Amino acid sequence: MPDHNVKAVVLAGSNVDRDRCLPEAIRHLRRTPNVTVEQVSACFDTVAVGENPNAPDFYNAAVLITTSLEPEDLRTALHGIEDDLGRVRTDDPNEPRTIDLDIVFYGDLAKDFDGWSIPDPAMEVHKHVAIPVADVVPDWVHPTSGRTARSIADDMVESNDEVTPSKAREFSTPYVTRSAGFDDSAEVYAPRLEELVRSQLVEIGEDPDREGLQRTPLRVAKALDFLTSGYTTSLDEVVNDAIFDAEGAEEMVVVRDVEFYSMCEHHMLPFFGKATVAYLPKGKIIGLSKIARIVDVYARRLQVQERLTNQVADALSDILDPYGVGVVMEGKHLCMMMRGVQKQESNMVTSSMRGTFRSDARTRSEFLDLVT
Ligand code: ZN
Repeated sequence: MPDHNVKAVVLAGSNVDRDRCLPEAIRHLRRTPNVTVEQVSACFDTVAVGENPNAPDFYNAAVLITTSLEPEDLRTALHGIEDDLGRVRTDDPNEPRTIDLDIVFYGDLAKDFDGWSIPDPAMEVHKHVAIPVADVVPDWVHPTSGRTARSIADDMVESNDEVTPSKAREFSTPYVTRSAGFDDSAEVYAPRLEELVRSQLVEIGEDPDREGLQRTPLRVAKALDFLTSGYTTSLDEVVNDAIFDAEGAEEMVVVRDVEFYSMCEHHMLPFFGKATVAYLPKGKIIGLSKIARIVDVYARRLQVQERLTNQVADALSDILDPYGVGVVMEGKHLCMMMRGVQKQESNMVTSSMRGTFRSDARTRSEFLDLVT
């Protein structure tokens, strides 16, 4: 794995069930470990190239990502997404396909692999590649020709009517609710998940077509994606470079009242509350805001509070190698409050001690005095 994240550009294309497959592919990309989607181009309507004049038109979009995957591993991950979306690979390069995902650029790498190359030669040959890429990274410099994406695309567009921004499709912004009045009736975010939510509505006796529920599957899919985004967020990405040498700093660092929101894995209902996180540094400290982000990484998954507490403690131990770590979490569980015994006032308290917080009674009681 490269030490650092590399910026790369992926071209997505679909001409089978394209209204569903293209957004779904981008969502899968968002959920690929070690890949972060930074930006997506407009969606372009593209006349199919090749010998078959009856081939259906494509949607194409370019996606700017950062990744810690090597090119071969990124390509394998992209093929996995193609397989998930029902792509059948054949020898015919003009075969209609549910989804095609190709690496166009990978940093400033120029290299031939077994049967494929980076940058993708299509970048300098095909408008359906160059135009979406120029839309998302106009200033990207092609590593061998030295030209920018914008100038490559501009040189191709004398007759650019074959590749036009789609009027029918816009990509939904992840995790953001559109303002009222925006016409996004064509919006699809996660077709398979949305279909499941719709079935769930039917199953509980609701009418998924009544006005208030029409966009509910879409909203639930987006919310679930956000609430479980911790699965694909890496600790490295969160901590980034916010670890500092602090020679001689040996006083306990305590961050109180870090809010957390999670979902219990038994009922998929929320539990939420506050965490107090402390450590005794051994030469290294971390930016305070990062502690809240670390809590988020583990909270945004299906969880039990005990494990969440342990994972936060272990993460800090791994990152900082301190003398010790203490984490106390206090949470309200809606699965207890709303159903069953309905114990509305019961808070659950969990704690996790590592190093001197476990072995040294004085350190532990100093910490616990600060918590209570
Ligand atoms: Zn529960």
